[in-house]
Amino acid sequence: MDDINSKHLTMGFIGLGHMGGPMAANLVKAGHVVRGFDLMPDLLQAATGAGVTPCRSVVEAVEGCGVVITMLPAGKHVISVWTDLMTAVSERTLLIDCSTIDIESSRHVHGMAKARGCLSLDAPVSGGTSGAMAGTLTFMVGGESEAFTAAEPILRAMGQKIIHCGGAAMGQAAKICNNMILGISMIAVSEAFVLAEKLGLSQQSLYDVASVSSGQCWSLTTYCPVPGPVPASPANRDYQPGFVTALMLKDLMLSQDAAALTGAKTQLGHEAAALYQRFSDAGGTAKDFSAIIEMIRSET
Ligand code: NAD
Repeated sequence: MDDINSKHLTMGFIGLGHMGGPMAANLVKAGHVVRGFDLMPDLLQAATGAGVTPCRSVVEAVEGCGVVITMLPAGKHVISVWTDLMTAVSERTLLIDCSTIDIESSRHVHGMAKARGCLSLDAPVSGGTSGAMAGTLTFMVGGESEAFTAAEPILRAMGQKIIHCGGAAMGQAAKICNNMILGISMIAVSEAFVLAEKLGLSQQSLYDVASVSSGQCWSLTTYCPVPGPVPASPANRDYQPGFVTALMLKDLMLSQDAAALTGAKTQLGHEAAALYQRFSDAGGTAKDFSAIIEMIRSET
């Protein structure tokens, strides 16, 4: 097993999808040997083209590695893969889960790692597939300081901002809370534009005022849900994602799971989840999440 402080490590990477594929490719570019596995053979083949060493199983990918990274759809997949890999990793292996998952599953896999004598981090990301390709992701990291210090240079090959948020599952907590703000604020901005339309106030005038006033927020000034004021926002390309509604809905559901777990009252989070569910059911799943304005407008 490599010295974890070595500049060029051998690492296992499980889950080579939209995010994991380009993240693994950036680790290869940084000089690491990346042993990859995904259930989908075509994704494994694509990763091989980017320099990843293809493996036939989770166990084969992680054997002998000092670092293992997982990038999977949900908590149940992470628990399943971490259960498999525990049989094959040595003590002191650094395990990093970059998936966005529920708090309980995250705590559970941290517990498994601790029982095995491994270092573990939850390190969900924001920045989407473009950030994954460009190596400009933000990592929100939970876990002990020793693990964070060891992981930081590795995460830097895939991201720009690496923020230690606290102990086990605090990266997930930060991601879930941030995306609840985002989901709610996009609805607020969309409702304001629809109301402005009804009042006869032009979109540009609302933008000119709110973008320099107390209504200013990321959903308005970076991701404006109407075409025109912010030329790079998905509204200008018929709401092609971007950040798909399916993932916004997933993250809002995670916020509601977390609220139920802790007893926190998140009324607007609850309402936002319900609106995105309705939008998704009505055919919005694959659109950018800012397209929620179309449903709000159509129901007005
Ligand atoms: P994806 O579905 O494209 O990739 C997940 C991959 O995991 C798939 O290729 C799947 O085959 C693989 N997989 C599932 N179970 C496996 C197993 N047992 N062994 C090996 N491979 C397995 O998803 P994605 O868009 O890459 O997202 C990954 C994670 O990142 C999710 O948790 C998502 O919420 C989060 N995320 C995604 C984005 C985004 O824009 N796509 C942004 C931020 C965070």
